[in-house]
Amino acid sequence: MDVPFVDLKTQGRGLLLEYQAALASIVGQAAYVIGTELRDFEAAFAEFCATPHAVGVSSGTDALLLAYRASAVGPGDEVILPANTFMATAEAVTHAGATPVLVDVLPDTANIDPAAVDAAITARTKAVVPVHLFGQPADMDAIHRVAKQHGLVVIEDACQAHGATYKGHPTGSLGDLAAFSFYPGKNLGALGDGGAVTTSHGDLAETIRVLRNHGEKTKSNHTVVGYCCRLDNLQAAFLSIKLGHLPEWNKARRVAAGQYDRLLAQVVGPEGAPVATPIASRPDVEAVYHLYVVKVAHRDAVRAKLDQAGIGTGVHYPVPIHLHPAYAHLGYKPGAFPVAEGLCGKILSLPMFPEITHEQIAYVVERLAGAVTA
Ligand SMILES: *Cc1c(COP(=O)(O)O)cnc(C)c1O
Repeated sequence: MDVPFVDLKTQGRGLLLEYQAALASIVGQAAYVIGTELRDFEAAFAEFCATPHAVGVSSGTDALLLAYRASAVGPGDEVILPANTFMATAEAVTHAGATPVLVDVLPDTANIDPAAVDAAITARTKAVVPVHLFGQPADMDAIHRVAKQHGLVVIEDACQAHGATYKGHPTGSLGDLAAFSFYPGKNLGALGDGGAVTTSHGDLAETIRVLRNHGEKTKSNHTVVGYCCRLDNLQAAFLSIKLGHLPEWNKARRVAAGQYDRLLAQVVGPEGAPVATPIASRPDVEAVYHLYVVKVAHRDAVRAKLDQAGIGTGVHYPVPIHLHPAYAHLGYKPGAFPVAEGLCGKILSLPMFPEITHEQIAYVVERLAGAVTA
């Protein structure tokens, strides 16, 4: 049996006729940017996130950049984010002209440690970016307590967490602003790149609309130096089609995660301890399992054996932000963030996509158990 790490083909096949109809309609109108399909998707996505505003942009990275710019993050400012995130969370801070300040994460959830955020605050700190890693919301109440005390802007990196909830509230409504990615492999993925910023602040939404379109506030009136990073009408139309399915797809991911949890708990090593420990899920969240991640000893050897058995896996992420050459200039040394660095050597992302079958999950767990105990 082959189990791919992700399967984007099944969804694509099932929705092809709807995609074709959307394409035909847009080509018929020859309206490709800032049109009806974009506005319709923005309204639907804002409603999905239980927040008043969503602004479509060209990627998750640009969503972060525009969220930072709208928050007046710029040269001389510091932005706090976790050390174990995708490069883009930090990259966009740098592109805004500010300095990323990294902090360690919690060992059980791998999400940003609010106490570490508190400890990293300086007079220059402007914003904090909880990343809802793997699809699980960060501890937002604790983040907001720290942010309120120090007057920080809270910007969610929700690029892996479309539809996840924290204490019943969806991501995208949990901070001042939130950035989403519609990269094809995300829980809600375009047929190419895309992203969105959500916010409850009308003024920030308007700033982002202006920034994404060359700083043009009204026709030929450019009030700020902006960017060209709009979400195409065509991608917006595809995303509207897919958004209708997202609740059922997220539910299927949760069911799959529950099956992994149950089967893995039954697999114990010689000393009676579990051979692979899933990243813990907080009781007050509903995660959407963009990734299903376990901690396992001898990760690379286990991964190679799974590969031989036809099972695709991933590592998110093998290197923390501060140990990439790109961020050597920040001056952090190995050992600076022991929890994040420790996770890098142990984490393994198992196959996860809405259409994964119970048989496939059972096969992955069986082969994983064999690989670990062999
Ligand atoms: C995917 C991702 C991004 C960037 O999104 P793109 O659309 O690829 O630019 C940012 N942060 C996190 C945590 C992500 O997973």
